[in-house]
Amino acid sequence: MRQATMIFFVGVGSGTISDITRYTAYKLKIPFILFPTAPSMDGFTSSGAALTIDNLKTTVAAKAPEAVFIDNEVIDNAPLTLKKAGFRDLMGKITAFLDWQLSHFLTGEKIDLDVLETVKNTYLKTLYAIETKEFSKNLLEGLIISGLMMTKVGSSRPASGSEHHISHFLEYHGVKTYHGIKVGLATLYILRFYKHFLSLSKDEILGMIHYTLDIDAWQDLMRRYFKFAYESVIRANLERVNRLNDKTFREELIKKLVEKKDSIDKIIYETLTIYKDLIHAYRFLDMPMHYRDLGIDDALFFIAFTCAPNIRDRFTILHLYEFLGLTQDVVNSF
Ligand SMILES: [Zn+2]
Repeated sequence: MRQATMIFFVGVGSGTISDITRYTAYKLKIPFILFPTAPSMDGFTSSGAALTIDNLKTTVAAKAPEAVFIDNEVIDNAPLTLKKAGFRDLMGKITAFLDWQLSHFLTGEKIDLDVLETVKNTYLKTLYAIETKEFSKNLLEGLIISGLMMTKVGSSRPASGSEHHISHFLEYHGVKTYHGIKVGLATLYILRFYKHFLSLSKDEILGMIHYTLDIDAWQDLMRRYFKFAYESVIRANLERVNRLNDKTFREELIKKLVEKKDSIDKIIYETLTIYKDLIHAYRFLDMPMHYRDLGIDDALFFIAFTCAPNIRDRFTILHLYEFLGLTQDVVNSF
């Protein structure tokens, strides 16, 4: 009698191992299971793999594992640096949460309220466990649930927004630190855009109707800051940026923005109630709060917010600020 053999991959490790296993398993059509060894990122249960293509971090189709096995003792004893990275990746969901809803209001993008609520609960549960022994467990749980939510909606939208685009841009420019550390830094600065949005009056928004984006200057910028990928970046975004100067498009979006401003403000106000706790958590874990703490120079960091909307066709607060022509106003306040 012939014995049945089953071939499957086993990934033991954190982010990179998990993504390599996931992508290879998908390409070879082989099932796989994962044993995370640290709560360092949110992709364990995701169906997409974050790969670096043309030096640019891109999420490509892959597959979710058949099962994830967790040993709490291993997770508890994971290096603190990896826990910090995972915590900051999870805190990135705060701005991803806001970006998704902003897009829903302004572009009509579909949202899943259950998914939004679930993601919010996981980041809050971890944030408020920062000083307890539940921290590592809640953190990994939050990261795993975020991944499941991505699988549920079929995209990384519930877990990745403008803060991830900034992180990808910094990575492209050689800022070498954990993904989550960059995401968590960007989250703080993206929240400043949301705070700025609260301060905008409807009259100021109406005044931006005549703003035009200088397309030639934009192309020069893309050539300069996406040295190895500028052709594909320009190709992917040219139609989008040309539309920013279209009169009808501008009128419609400004009208919608004014109409929805109160509803958007309400969500931002509610979300920002955790701001103090977030700062406390960063301090408690002794984590970098300022871009210079990561050795990032002013010019690169400032330009990241102008370049980031071109990284992914996913509407975020940075797309809105690009449309309004106000990115520089916020950046100047950093
Ligand atoms: Zn992430």
